[in-house]
Amino acid sequence: MLFDGLYGQNEIKKTLTDMITGDRVGHAFAFCGPTGIGRKSFARAFAQGIMCAQRHPDEDDCCGACVGCTLMKNQTNPDFSLIMEDEDKNSIGVETIRALQEDMAKAPEYGMRKVYVIGVAEKMTLEAQNALLKTLEEPAEYVVVILVCTNIALLLETIRSRVVRIDFARNSDQEVICAMDRQGVDYGAQGVSKTLICAYADGIIGRALDIADFEIFKQIPTEALEVLSLLPGGKVDFLIRFTRLFEQNEENREFVFFSVLSLLRDAMTMARYGNRCDLQNEQFRREIERLAETLGYHHAVDSIRILNDAWGLLRRNINYKLMVGSTAIKLQEAMK
Ligand SMILES: [Zn+2]
Repeated sequence: MLFDGLYGQNEIKKTLTDMITGDRVGHAFAFCGPTGIGRKSFARAFAQGIMCAQRHPDEDDCCGACVGCTLMKNQTNPDFSLIMEDEDKNSIGVETIRALQEDMAKAPEYGMRKVYVIGVAEKMTLEAQNALLKTLEEPAEYVVVILVCTNIALLLETIRSRVVRIDFARNSDQEVICAMDRQGVDYGAQGVSKTLICAYADGIIGRALDIADFEIFKQIPTEALEVLSLLPGGKVDFLIRFTRLFEQNEENREFVFFSVLSLLRDAMTMARYGNRCDLQNEQFRREIERLAETLGYHHAVDSIRILNDAWGLLRRNINYKLMVGSTAIKLQEAMK
């Protein structure tokens, strides 16, 4: 099967496979969905299916052996292009689209088709989108364009009306766990909570898989809990430990934020509803009970609000260290 190595999205697998086997592949697609859901991996697999020169008409898989397939595996197929934003500009400019169109004028080298994946389509400037529109209006017969986007509303209506839209749904928790299993996470041995991983992944497998070292799933929540236990009672160590936790794990900053928030959420729930509530960090039930007692419901709510604000600021590219320091102080101030 074409999409064998990819997780979930069974309907999409079927739709795209049917297009290839029925020889009904159009010229333009929009693969929509959250970052990490697998849109680019699907685009790559779809492209290989489209470009394979020796696919048997009765089979729904590419041959894996023709020149096109081999070059796809090595990521060196000249008939396949993945276009990302210019790093210095954080956008895709009109020059990039013009260069693409020059390339589109040349026939495919190995197969019947050429595939162009625009990695973050909403990063195309207005000028770039207008230029691309010409391609979508009159594509060369061998050209296939796949626009990968999170928010399709940011694309011109004229572009949206010319693409076949494929919506990637969030995966179920079982699919997330299945993906983690395949990566070899041993929950018991590593002391990692499945509930916490699922809550963090939020149906997006790539989010959980992005954390390359699974020890992190245990280590950060454990540390975060120790740090939070210093918060009530205005302990001086809190400031130092809090900043260290965030600075040492800057690479996984999203997970650090999530872990602290998740523990506070558990403490808040327990302070409000007592010991029988469900916890995201079940393995720390006893410690969370203590935290809930010392922190109290209102302080937990305040702390969650402060952290949420900090996370919002960070997304707008506020200096990380500065933000961490000031958040620690705000958390302590709120305890007074
Ligand atoms: Zn092939």
